[in-house]
Order: sequence, then structure tokens, then C-alpha cells
Amino acid sequence: MRCPFCGNIDTQVKDSRPAEDHVAIRRRRFCPACGGRFTTYERVQLRDLVVIKSNGRREDFDRDKLERSIRIALQKRPIEPERVDQMISGIVRRLESLGDTDIPSKTIGEIVMESLARIDTVAYVRFASVYKNFQAVEDFEDFVSELRPKTAADPGE
Ligand SMILES: [Zn+2]
Repeated sequence: MRCPFCGNIDTQVKDSRPAEDHVAIRRRRFCPACGGRFTTYERVQLRDLVVIKSNGRREDFDRDKLERSIRIALQKRPIEPERVDQMISGIVRRLESLGDTDIPSKTIGEIVMESLARIDTVAYVRFASVYKNFQAVEDFEDFVSELRPKTAADPGE
């Protein structure tokens, strides 16, 4: 795994443990070249999904992107991070079991809204109000990140 700080390819795993109720493996990694530390998650990927955007463009499904949009909607809401992880895993499982690997971004947005509605009304309204104007999860993320100052980088452990 390439070091995100210096680009060195030869990084080491310092610690591996189950996460998200054994849905994922969390690995703490160390880069001997620059001393950087970072975390990776290993998850089952049943199928390779492709997102069909509203303009017809195709894009590989990116779980991290989905997760960022959802975390933005949940910002400062009293929801346990573990619960958010489980919700995101549930959304991905649903997408993977739709029967078609090509998924319209609209379908993803609707599933996200449905899931958010079940855990937090405020987050649901935030997501839905913007989503309805933009019709795409990724646009929502771009829109919100323009409105907010970038948060300080995670200082790490
Ligand atoms: Zn490095």
C-alpha cells in the first residue's frame, strides 16, 4: 500500500483488527521512509458496481465518496460512528444485491435518503433538500464542501 504522505510503496502493517462488527478489517500502517502512519480498511466486495450519473456518464462506484457525503449530512449529529459505518455497509450491500451492476446515481441517492431517514431526521432533511436540487450524491458533496471551510486534518493517533 502506497504511503499517502510520501508515495513510498513499501509500507508496513503494525496492527490488524476486526472493525464494524467483523464486516471490515482495520489495519494501522507505518511508512518507514517518512514515519507517516495511516489506516486502511479491508472489506468484502461482492461485485464491481458502476454508477450511471444523471448526465449519462459512467463512474466506478466509490464507497469512500458515498461515505463522505453521508458524514457531511451527519455532521455534529449525535450518531455513533459505529452506527454510521453499519448504515453505510448496509447501503453498499443493498446496492450490490440490486441485480444489476450498473446503478443510476438517483437510485443511490434514494437508498441513502431512506437509510438516513431511519437514523436521523435532521441529517435526512439536510441530505434530501440538497439532493433534490442536484440529483447526485457526488454533487451534494461538492456543493457542501464549497460552503464549509476545510476542517483541520486529523492529527492521527
Ligand atoms: Zn511515507
